[in-house]
Amino acid sequence: MEWGSWRRGTAAKRGREVVPGRIFSCAFCRGTGVLPRSKGIQCPVCRGAGSVEVDPPAIICAYCGGRGEANPQTNITCIVCRGKGVVPVKEPFTECRQCRGSGIEANSKLPCLACRGKGVVQALVQAKG
Ligand SMILES: [Zn+2]
Ligand SMILES: [Zn+2]
Ligand SMILES: [Zn+2]
Repeated sequence: MEWGSWRRGTAAKRGREVVPGRIFSCAFCRGTGVLPRSKGIQCPVCRGAGSVEVDPPAIICAYCGGRGEANPQTNITCIVCRGKGVVPVKEPFTECRQCRGSGIEANSKLPCLACRGKGVVQALVQAKG
């Protein structure tokens, strides 16, 4: 299982760098194709494939930290990345000031409205002059 060797640890913490490639290990089922903590139920995110496709450029989902789960151990897919663990972005992008890149609204714990939980917003290209 090649996908499993994906460097989840370091990438998930930084979060604001484009992750290379377009095929990723399914975060929700950790590449197994089986719904976590189930007895052989097919993963709804990758439909049992164990891998998902995301159009580049993409970054680690800030809201779930790349886990693909809305909350740990719940089997509920993250509403921002829909369980993939990565979200497509538009370049150039910059860290969202409203949530400081966390993707989480401080009060409600819902996805940040400014960045829609991605933790980054599209950077404004400033005109010269
Ligand atoms: Zn899956
Ligand atoms: Zn997510
Ligand atoms: Zn934000």
